[in-house]
Amino acid sequence: MAKNEDQFKKVISHAKEYGYIFGSSEIYDGLSAVYDYAQNGVELKKNIREYWWRSMVYMHQNIVGIDAAILMHPTTWKASGHVDAFNDPLIDNKDSKKRYRADVLIEDYAEKLNIKAKKEIAKARKRFGDAFDEEQYVTTNPRVVKYLKEQKDVLERMARSLETENLADVKALIEELGIADPDTGSKNWTEVRQFNLMFGTKLGASAESATDLYLRPETAQGIFVNFLNVQKTGRMKIPFGIAQTGKAFRNEIVARQFIFRMREFEQMEMQFFVRPGEEMKWYEYWKETRLKWHLSLGLGEENYRFHDHEKLAHYANAATDIEFNFPFGFKELEGIHSRTDFDLKAHEEYSGKKLQFFDPEMNESYVPYVVETSIGLDRMFLAILSNSLQEETLEDGSTRTVLKLPNIVAPVKAAVLPLVKKDGLQEIAQDIIETLKWDHNVIYDEKDAVGRRYRRQDAAGTPFCITVDHQTKEDQTVTIRYRDTMKQERISISEISEKIKQSLSYKEWLA
Ligand code: ATP
Repeated sequence: MAKNEDQFKKVISHAKEYGYIFGSSEIYDGLSAVYDYAQNGVELKKNIREYWWRSMVYMHQNIVGIDAAILMHPTTWKASGHVDAFNDPLIDNKDSKKRYRADVLIEDYAEKLNIKAKKEIAKARKRFGDAFDEEQYVTTNPRVVKYLKEQKDVLERMARSLETENLADVKALIEELGIADPDTGSKNWTEVRQFNLMFGTKLGASAESATDLYLRPETAQGIFVNFLNVQKTGRMKIPFGIAQTGKAFRNEIVARQFIFRMREFEQMEMQFFVRPGEEMKWYEYWKETRLKWHLSLGLGEENYRFHDHEKLAHYANAATDIEFNFPFGFKELEGIHSRTDFDLKAHEEYSGKKLQFFDPEMNESYVPYVVETSIGLDRMFLAILSNSLQEETLEDGSTRTVLKLPNIVAPVKAAVLPLVKKDGLQEIAQDIIETLKWDHNVIYDEKDAVGRRYRRQDAAGTPFCITVDHQTKEDQTVTIRYRDTMKQERISISEISEKIKQSLSYKEWLA
């Protein structure tokens, strides 16, 4: 693993210990690549969804939301191309019996070349100091030029072979590059085969009359088939968008990265319908807008990068990923695709119904083009969780584990703690909870010494601790402690709610 295998293991065990994520049906030894969100996880996930929804639907007068069903008419998936083309190229290692995605093996190889080039550049930057001209170095240093050229050649050849369904050449490429099983080092590979990722199911009681259905592999098609319903009933004018969040299902071949790649996961998608010919303008607009959304959460600009696709999906004329620096390296977090008029046209053809917009300014009807933004809610969850989990060394040399979640998405906003379990302090703390609970998700905690309770809340990601002590009885003040700085101040009980609210303003975060 590239960046920090240890850190990743910590994230996974922390997620369990602090009630964020459990393996599915654990008492039966779990189900591979399926996970349950626990008491804190469900709140974090809900808050991320809300943060996305507000930025898309409430911040854009021309975007509305829907919630389509997971089960759809089976012809949907014929029209969308998923029955014929929603495949991953897989390869097995004959010795380890492990299965891999052939394209991922090759991409990882190419990424190693990129890392080598980056290392050379970093070394040179150190050597030359202020006089360093990166652009010149990248185009002239023979080693860097060689690495980057090889990386490009490898990716281009793979893209060509996949596009032309030349799976024999994909295998040949793996062999020529000497790619080995990452777990065992064995190079004893099978042929490359295509594998359809959709989960099938049945509708109907008896085996004879049952209809074959699929669990949707993406939420987008629920938007496309409703395009005209929404346009007409909402009297929407081009350009406009339809947003949706919901579950999607993929029978992933390789699912070994916790909630990064699940078989059941949640997407947050927005399809933006535009005039034909204007799609590239909107593609650029959404690239920029979506990156800004990510940066608004403060996980660090250096942790994001765009990765333009070499191989375009059957429906796209431009595509990029926003990649995030996960503990196992930069990987796709969100996809932005210019999907042309492929989907609407296909649904027109298969359904026999017109899916067109009459543009009053142009005085003509057309099938709109579509720009899509599609982000995995679970991957966003992992990005936030892994980035927020930190081990800090304090001034006195001790360490603390702290989950520095952005306040706006933190599951619990404040913990209210009576200093001791007597003298009426518990009742005051309970009264404070009663007042705060109308506006915030808050909890009560009286177990253990207060220092330990602080550490527990730090690790759980709670931004504020409110401590009730004997002075509270005299002057109606409490101590508020801030998770990130560990600073404490004395404020009056009546100020608490406002104090918490200040750090949770969508306007401050999103604008
Ligand atoms: P990958 O290349 O990683 O398989 P993809 O390109 O197939 O992803 P899209 O079809 O573009 O993914 O889906 C949009 C988003 O949905 C992705 O950016 C990702 O965040 C999320 N996603 C896709 N597959 C999964 C999965 N199996 N588990 C969790 N999230 C997923």
